[in-house]
Amino acid sequence: MTRGAPLPYARQDIDEADVAAVVEALRDPFITQGPRVESFERAVAARTGAKHCVAFSSGTAALHAAIFAADVGPGDEVISSPITFAASTNAALYQGATPRFVDIDPATWNLDTAAAAAAVNERTKAIVPVSFTGLPVDLAPLDGVRDRVVVIEDAAHALGAHRHGGPVGGPGGADITCFSLHPAKTITAGEGGLATTEDDELARRLRIFRTHGITKQDIHPSADEGAWYYEMQELGFNYRITDVMCALGESQLTRLDEFVDRRNALAARYRELLADEPRITLPPEAPEDSRHGRHLFVVHVEGGGAARRATFEGLQERGVGCQVHYVPVYRLPYYRDRLGVPQEDCPHAEAYYWGAISLPLFPLMTDDDVLRVVLDLKDSLPA
Ligand SMILES: *Cc1c(COP(=O)(O)O)cnc(C)c1O
Repeated sequence: MTRGAPLPYARQDIDEADVAAVVEALRDPFITQGPRVESFERAVAARTGAKHCVAFSSGTAALHAAIFAADVGPGDEVISSPITFAASTNAALYQGATPRFVDIDPATWNLDTAAAAAAVNERTKAIVPVSFTGLPVDLAPLDGVRDRVVVIEDAAHALGAHRHGGPVGGPGGADITCFSLHPAKTITAGEGGLATTEDDELARRLRIFRTHGITKQDIHPSADEGAWYYEMQELGFNYRITDVMCALGESQLTRLDEFVDRRNALAARYRELLADEPRITLPPEAPEDSRHGRHLFVVHVEGGGAARRATFEGLQERGVGCQVHYVPVYRLPYYRDRLGVPQEDCPHAEAYYWGAISLPLFPLMTDDDVLRVVLDLKDSLPA
Protein backbone atom coordinates (compact mmCIF):
# COMPACT_ATOMS: atom_id res chain seq x y z
CA MET A 1 0.00 0.00 0.00
CA THR A 2 2.86 2.43 0.71
CA ARG A 3 4.75 4.02 -2.15
CA GLY A 4 7.98 4.37 -0.14
CA ALA A 5 9.63 4.69 3.25
CA PRO A 6 7.88 6.90 5.81
CA LEU A 7 8.35 10.57 4.95
CA PRO A 8 8.42 13.14 7.78
CA TYR A 9 6.59 16.47 7.36
CA ALA A 10 9.75 18.39 8.32
CA ARG A 11 13.41 17.66 8.82
CA GLN A 12 16.61 19.66 9.37
CA ASP A 13 19.45 19.63 6.83
CA ILE A 14 22.79 19.40 8.68
CA ASP A 15 25.93 19.14 6.54
CA GLU A 16 29.59 18.43 7.34
CA ALA A 17 30.40 22.15 7.56
CA ASP A 18 27.72 22.48 10.29
CA VAL A 19 29.21 19.52 12.17
CA ALA A 20 32.74 20.97 11.89
CA ALA A 21 31.56 24.38 13.15
CA VAL A 22 29.97 22.78 16.23
CA VAL A 23 33.04 20.64 16.96
CA GLU A 24 35.27 23.71 16.73
CA ALA A 25 33.04 25.62 19.14
CA LEU A 26 33.18 22.74 21.63
CA ARG A 27 36.98 22.94 21.76
CA ASP A 28 36.94 26.62 22.79
CA PRO A 29 37.16 27.83 26.40
CA PHE A 30 33.70 29.47 26.25
CA ILE A 31 30.87 27.16 25.31
CA THR A 32 28.25 29.72 26.27
CA GLN A 33 28.28 33.54 26.17
CA GLY A 34 31.49 33.47 24.13
CA PRO A 35 32.31 35.28 20.88
CA ARG A 36 30.02 33.15 18.70
CA VAL A 37 26.83 34.65 20.12
CA GLU A 38 27.79 38.15 18.98
CA SER A 39 29.19 36.85 15.71
CA PHE A 40 25.89 35.07 14.91
CA GLU A 41 23.88 38.14 15.92
CA ARG A 42 26.00 40.32 13.61
CA ALA A 43 25.56 37.84 10.75
CA VAL A 44 21.76 37.83 11.14
CA ALA A 45 21.72 41.64 11.37
CA ALA A 46 23.77 41.82 8.16
CA ARG A 47 21.46 39.33 6.43
CA THR A 48 18.22 41.09 7.41
CA GLY A 49 19.61 44.64 7.34
CA ALA A 50 18.51 45.10 10.95
CA LYS A 51 20.34 47.52 13.25
CA HIS A 52 20.15 45.14 16.23
CA CYS A 53 19.81 41.39 16.59
CA VAL A 54 19.54 39.59 19.94
CA ALA A 55 19.75 35.77 20.07
CA PHE A 56 17.79 33.72 22.62
CA SER A 57 17.46 30.12 23.80
CA SER A 58 14.22 29.72 21.79
CA GLY A 59 11.82 31.59 19.56
CA THR A 60 9.37 31.56 22.46
CA ALA A 61 11.98 33.30 24.67
CA ALA A 62 12.48 35.91 21.92
CA LEU A 63 8.71 36.55 21.80
CA HIS A 64 8.55 36.80 25.61
CA ALA A 65 11.44 39.27 25.58
CA ALA A 66 9.71 41.30 22.84
CA ILE A 67 6.53 41.53 24.92
CA PHE A 68 8.65 42.67 27.89
CA ALA A 69 10.56 45.17 25.72
CA ALA A 70 7.23 46.62 24.57
CA ASP A 71 6.45 47.25 28.26
CA VAL A 72 3.34 45.05 28.18
CA GLY A 73 1.98 44.15 31.60
CA PRO A 74 -1.11 43.32 33.64
CA GLY A 75 -4.23 45.08 32.36
CA ASP A 76 -2.79 45.48 28.87
CA GLU A 77 -4.21 43.76 25.81
CA VAL A 78 -2.24 42.11 23.00
CA ILE A 79 -3.91 41.40 19.64
CA SER A 80 -2.85 38.40 17.56
CA SER A 81 -4.00 35.82 15.04
CA PRO A 82 -5.77 32.62 16.13
CA ILE A 83 -4.00 30.63 13.39
CA THR A 84 -0.60 30.35 15.00
CA PHE A 85 1.40 28.35 17.50
CA ALA A 86 0.31 29.01 21.09
CA ALA A 87 3.67 30.66 21.87
CA SER A 88 2.64 33.81 19.93
CA THR A 89 0.08 34.71 22.59
CA ASN A 90 1.50 32.75 25.55
CA ALA A 91 4.20 35.46 25.57
CA ALA A 92 1.53 38.03 26.48
CA LEU A 93 0.20 35.73 29.22
CA TYR A 94 3.69 35.35 30.73
CA GLN A 95 3.72 39.12 31.35
CA GLY A 96 0.22 39.12 32.83
CA ALA A 97 -1.47 40.67 29.78
CA THR A 98 -4.69 39.61 28.04
CA PRO A 99 -4.56 38.12 24.52
CA ARG A 100 -7.28 39.09 22.10
CA PHE A 101 -7.89 37.29 18.81
CA VAL A 102 -8.81 39.08 15.61
CA ASP A 103 -9.83 36.95 12.61
CA ILE A 104 -7.60 36.00 9.70
CA ASP A 105 -7.91 37.36 6.17
CA PRO A 106 -9.24 34.40 4.13
CA ALA A 107 -7.17 35.57 1.12
CA THR A 108 -3.81 35.20 2.94
CA TRP A 109 -4.59 33.11 6.08
CA ASN A 110 -2.64 35.81 7.97
CA LEU A 111 -4.04 38.12 10.63
CA ASP A 112 -6.46 40.63 9.05
CA THR A 113 -4.30 43.61 9.98
CA ALA A 114 -6.94 46.17 8.92
CA ALA A 115 -9.38 44.53 11.35
CA ALA A 116 -6.62 44.42 13.99
CA ALA A 117 -5.97 48.17 13.59
CA ALA A 118 -9.72 48.81 13.94
CA ALA A 119 -9.84 46.67 17.10
CA VAL A 120 -7.18 48.74 18.93
CA ASN A 121 -8.53 50.36 22.09
CA GLU A 122 -6.96 52.25 25.01
CA ARG A 123 -5.80 48.97 26.62
CA THR A 124 -4.10 47.61 23.48
CA LYS A 125 -0.34 47.77 23.98
CA ALA A 126 0.96 45.47 21.24
CA ILE A 127 -0.08 43.63 18.08
CA VAL A 128 1.59 40.32 17.19
CA PRO A 129 0.95 39.61 13.49
CA VAL A 130 2.25 36.23 12.36
CA SER A 131 3.80 35.61 8.94
CA PHE A 132 2.05 32.26 8.80
CA THR A 133 3.65 29.54 6.61
CA GLY A 134 6.32 32.13 5.67
CA LEU A 135 3.99 34.45 3.73
CA PRO A 136 4.91 37.96 4.96
CA VAL A 137 1.92 39.46 6.77
CA ASP A 138 0.75 42.84 5.41
CA LEU A 139 1.88 45.44 7.96
CA ALA A 140 0.73 48.56 6.03
CA PRO A 141 -2.82 48.60 7.54
CA LEU A 142 -1.18 49.00 10.99
CA ASP A 143 0.52 52.31 10.06
CA GLY A 144 -2.25 54.39 11.61
CA VAL A 145 -1.87 52.80 15.07
CA ARG A 146 1.91 52.54 15.30
CA ASP A 147 2.17 55.64 17.47
CA ARG A 148 0.03 53.84 20.08
CA VAL A 149 0.98 50.14 19.87
CA VAL A 150 4.19 48.18 19.44
CA VAL A 151 4.12 45.83 16.45
CA ILE A 152 5.90 42.52 17.15
CA GLU A 153 6.02 40.29 14.10
CA ASP A 154 6.11 36.56 14.83
CA ALA A 155 8.26 35.59 11.85
CA ALA A 156 9.10 32.10 13.18
CA HIS A 157 8.11 30.80 9.70
CA ALA A 158 9.64 33.63 7.70
CA LEU A 159 13.43 33.84 8.05
CA GLY A 160 14.71 34.49 4.53
CA ALA A 161 11.35 35.84 3.31
CA HIS A 162 11.05 39.31 1.72
CA ARG A 163 8.24 41.81 2.08
CA HIS A 164 7.97 44.17 -0.90
CA GLY A 165 11.64 43.68 -1.71
CA GLY A 166 13.03 44.09 1.83
CA PRO A 167 14.05 41.21 4.10
CA VAL A 168 11.55 40.32 6.85
CA GLY A 169 13.16 41.51 10.10
CA GLY A 170 14.86 44.51 8.50
CA PRO A 171 14.14 48.26 8.40
CA GLY A 172 10.61 49.24 7.41
CA GLY A 173 9.08 46.20 9.09
CA ALA A 174 7.71 45.61 12.57
CA ASP A 175 9.14 47.32 15.68
CA ILE A 176 10.50 43.92 16.75
CA THR A 177 10.67 40.79 14.57
CA CYS A 178 11.06 37.34 16.16
CA PHE A 179 12.40 34.20 14.51
CA SER A 180 12.70 30.57 15.66
CA LEU A 181 15.67 28.24 15.15
CA HIS A 182 13.79 25.03 15.96
CA PRO A 183 14.87 22.11 13.69
CA ALA A 184 11.59 22.26 11.72
CA LYS A 185 12.17 25.94 10.85
CA THR A 186 14.15 27.37 7.92
CA ILE A 187 17.56 27.22 9.65
CA THR A 188 18.28 25.62 13.01
CA ALA A 189 20.57 25.97 16.02
CA GLY A 190 19.03 22.87 17.68
CA GLU A 191 16.72 25.24 19.54
CA GLY A 192 17.07 29.01 19.60
CA GLY A 193 15.44 32.28 18.65
CA LEU A 194 16.23 35.76 17.36
CA ALA A 195 14.76 39.21 17.77
CA THR A 196 15.67 42.10 15.45
CA THR A 197 14.86 45.78 15.85
CA GLU A 198 15.92 49.23 14.63
CA ASP A 199 15.25 50.77 18.05
CA ASP A 200 18.15 51.18 20.52
CA GLU A 201 15.95 51.20 23.62
CA LEU A 202 13.96 48.12 22.55
CA ALA A 203 17.30 46.37 21.85
CA ARG A 204 18.58 47.29 25.32
CA ARG A 205 15.45 45.84 26.93
CA LEU A 206 15.65 42.65 24.81
CA ARG A 207 19.25 42.13 25.99
CA ILE A 208 18.66 42.77 29.67
CA PHE A 209 15.66 40.40 29.71
CA ARG A 210 17.89 37.58 28.39
CA THR A 211 20.15 37.71 31.47
CA HIS A 212 17.83 37.96 34.50
CA GLY A 213 17.51 41.74 34.11
CA ILE A 214 21.13 41.96 35.35
CA THR A 215 23.48 44.50 33.78
CA LYS A 216 26.81 46.26 34.29
CA GLN A 217 25.69 49.24 32.20
CA ASP A 218 24.07 52.40 33.62
CA ILE A 219 24.82 51.24 37.15
CA HIS A 220 25.41 53.18 40.38
CA PRO A 221 28.15 51.61 42.54
CA SER A 222 28.93 53.16 45.94
CA ALA A 223 32.43 54.51 46.71
CA ASP A 224 33.65 51.14 48.03
CA GLU A 225 32.24 49.03 45.23
CA GLY A 226 34.47 48.08 42.28
CA ALA A 227 34.47 46.28 38.96
CA TRP A 228 32.51 43.30 40.37
CA TYR A 229 29.44 45.46 40.89
CA TYR A 230 26.28 44.72 38.91
CA GLU A 231 22.63 45.59 39.19
CA MET A 232 19.43 43.70 38.58
CA GLN A 233 17.23 46.42 37.14
CA GLU A 234 14.33 44.37 35.75
CA LEU A 235 12.86 40.90 36.35
CA GLY A 236 14.34 38.92 33.47
CA PHE A 237 15.02 35.25 32.80
CA ASN A 238 17.92 33.02 31.81
CA TYR A 239 17.12 32.99 28.10
CA ARG A 240 20.75 32.76 26.93
CA ILE A 241 21.69 30.84 23.82
CA THR A 242 25.00 28.91 23.87
CA ASP A 243 28.10 29.45 21.74
CA VAL A 244 27.74 25.89 20.47
CA MET A 245 24.21 26.61 19.24
CA CYS A 246 25.36 29.86 17.61
CA ALA A 247 28.15 28.00 15.78
CA LEU A 248 25.46 25.79 14.21
CA GLY A 249 23.16 28.77 13.58
CA GLU A 250 25.82 30.83 11.82
CA SER A 251 26.91 27.88 9.69
CA GLN A 252 23.28 27.19 8.72
CA LEU A 253 22.74 30.87 7.90
CA THR A 254 25.20 30.59 5.01
CA ARG A 255 22.69 28.25 3.32
CA LEU A 256 19.55 30.27 4.09
CA ASP A 257 18.94 31.30 0.47
CA GLU A 258 19.59 27.78 -0.75
CA PHE A 259 17.03 26.44 1.77
CA VAL A 260 14.35 29.01 0.92
CA ASP A 261 14.87 28.54 -2.84
CA ARG A 262 14.58 24.76 -2.51
CA ARG A 263 11.44 25.09 -0.38
CA ASN A 264 9.92 27.41 -3.01
CA ALA A 265 10.88 25.01 -5.83
CA LEU A 266 9.21 22.11 -3.99
CA ALA A 267 6.10 24.23 -3.41
CA ALA A 268 6.00 25.13 -7.12
CA ARG A 269 6.10 21.41 -7.95
CA TYR A 270 3.24 20.71 -5.52
CA ARG A 271 1.21 23.49 -7.18
CA GLU A 272 1.88 22.17 -10.66
CA LEU A 273 0.94 18.59 -9.77
CA LEU A 274 -2.16 19.65 -7.82
CA ALA A 275 -3.38 22.41 -10.17
CA ASP A 276 -6.24 20.31 -11.56
CA GLU A 277 -7.28 18.65 -8.29
CA PRO A 278 -10.77 20.00 -7.49
CA ARG A 279 -10.93 18.41 -4.03
CA ILE A 280 -8.32 20.76 -2.58
CA THR A 281 -7.55 24.49 -2.56
CA LEU A 282 -3.90 25.53 -2.89
CA PRO A 283 -2.35 27.97 -0.38
CA PRO A 284 -2.16 31.75 -0.91
CA GLU A 285 0.92 33.04 -2.75
CA ALA A 286 3.20 36.00 -1.98
CA PRO A 287 2.76 39.18 -4.07
CA GLU A 288 5.10 39.63 -7.07
CA ASP A 289 7.53 41.91 -5.21
CA SER A 290 7.81 39.60 -2.17
CA ARG A 291 9.44 36.25 -1.41
CA HIS A 292 7.60 33.49 0.42
CA GLY A 293 9.63 31.94 3.29
CA ARG A 294 7.74 28.67 2.73
CA HIS A 295 8.06 27.03 6.12
CA LEU A 296 4.82 25.12 5.47
CA PHE A 297 2.82 23.95 2.47
CA VAL A 298 -0.81 23.83 3.60
CA VAL A 299 -3.64 22.58 1.41
CA HIS A 300 -7.31 23.03 2.18
CA VAL A 301 -9.58 20.00 1.73
CA GLU A 302 -12.90 20.91 0.08
CA GLY A 303 -15.81 20.37 2.42
CA GLY A 304 -13.52 20.12 5.46
CA GLY A 305 -14.70 18.17 8.53
CA ALA A 306 -14.93 14.42 7.82
CA ALA A 307 -13.25 14.83 4.41
CA ARG A 308 -10.20 16.46 6.02
CA ARG A 309 -10.01 13.80 8.71
CA ALA A 310 -10.22 10.96 6.14
CA THR A 311 -7.52 12.61 4.03
CA PHE A 312 -5.23 13.12 7.01
CA GLU A 313 -5.64 9.51 8.12
CA GLY A 314 -5.16 8.22 4.57
CA LEU A 315 -1.86 10.09 4.31
CA GLN A 316 -0.70 8.78 7.68
CA GLU A 317 -1.57 5.18 6.69
CA ARG A 318 0.51 5.64 3.56
CA GLY A 319 3.53 6.79 5.58
CA VAL A 320 3.25 10.47 4.65
CA GLY A 321 3.95 12.71 7.64
CA CYS A 322 1.34 15.44 7.74
CA GLN A 323 0.12 17.81 10.42
CA VAL A 324 -2.50 20.45 11.01
CA HIS A 325 -1.21 23.98 11.63
CA TYR A 326 -2.97 24.99 13.78
CA VAL A 327 -5.88 24.35 16.11
CA PRO A 328 -7.09 27.98 16.56
CA VAL A 329 -5.44 29.19 19.77
CA TYR A 330 -8.75 30.32 21.32
CA ARG A 331 -9.96 26.68 21.08
CA LEU A 332 -7.11 25.36 23.26
CA PRO A 333 -8.66 24.39 26.63
CA TYR A 334 -6.37 26.71 28.60
CA TYR A 335 -7.59 29.65 26.53
CA ARG A 336 -11.21 28.48 26.18
CA ASP A 337 -11.92 27.18 29.70
CA ARG A 338 -9.38 28.80 32.01
CA LEU A 339 -9.25 32.21 30.36
CA GLY A 340 -12.77 32.20 28.91
CA VAL A 341 -11.65 33.49 25.52
CA PRO A 342 -14.63 33.97 23.14
CA GLN A 343 -15.13 31.17 20.60
CA GLU A 344 -17.35 32.95 18.06
CA ASP A 345 -15.22 35.88 16.88
CA CYS A 346 -13.23 34.28 14.07
CA PRO A 347 -15.37 32.59 11.38
CA HIS A 348 -12.56 32.68 8.79
CA ALA A 349 -10.15 30.97 11.20
CA GLU A 350 -12.81 28.30 11.81
CA ALA A 351 -13.35 27.72 8.09
CA TYR A 352 -9.60 27.54 7.57
CA TYR A 353 -9.01 25.13 10.47
CA TRP A 354 -11.60 22.52 9.46
CA GLY A 355 -10.00 21.96 6.04
CA ALA A 356 -6.27 22.46 6.61
CA ILE A 357 -3.52 19.85 6.17
CA SER A 358 0.23 20.59 6.04
CA LEU A 359 2.04 18.38 3.54
CA PRO A 360 5.73 17.43 3.94
CA LEU A 361 8.11 20.26 3.02
CA PHE A 362 11.84 20.38 3.76
CA PRO A 363 14.94 21.04 1.64
CA LEU A 364 16.14 17.42 1.58
CA MET A 365 12.88 16.26 -0.07
CA THR A 366 13.32 15.13 -3.67
CA ASP A 367 11.08 15.94 -6.63
CA ASP A 368 10.03 12.28 -6.55
CA ASP A 369 9.01 12.66 -2.90
CA VAL A 370 6.64 15.46 -3.95
CA LEU A 371 5.12 13.27 -6.67
CA ARG A 372 4.68 10.44 -4.18
CA VAL A 373 2.92 12.74 -1.68
CA VAL A 374 0.62 14.04 -4.43
CA LEU A 375 -0.33 10.49 -5.53
CA ASP A 376 -0.93 9.48 -1.90
CA LEU A 377 -2.96 12.64 -1.35
CA LYS A 378 -5.16 11.94 -4.38
CA ASP A 379 -5.71 8.36 -3.14
CA SER A 380 -6.58 9.64 0.34
CA LEU A 381 -9.06 12.37 -0.66
CA PRO A 382 -12.69 11.16 -0.49
CA ALA A 383 -14.13 10.66 -3.97
C1 LIG B 1 8.04 27.62 16.20
C2 LIG B 1 7.15 28.78 16.50
C3 LIG B 1 7.30 29.57 17.65
C4 LIG B 1 8.19 29.21 18.79
O1 LIG B 1 9.48 28.98 18.49
P1 LIG B 1 10.36 28.00 19.40
O2 LIG B 1 11.75 28.27 18.89
O3 LIG B 1 9.90 26.61 19.14
O4 LIG B 1 10.19 28.40 20.82
C5 LIG B 1 6.52 30.71 17.76
N1 LIG B 1 5.60 31.03 16.84
C6 LIG B 1 5.40 30.27 15.75
C7 LIG B 1 4.38 30.70 14.75
C8 LIG B 1 6.15 29.11 15.55
O5 LIG B 1 5.92 28.34 14.48
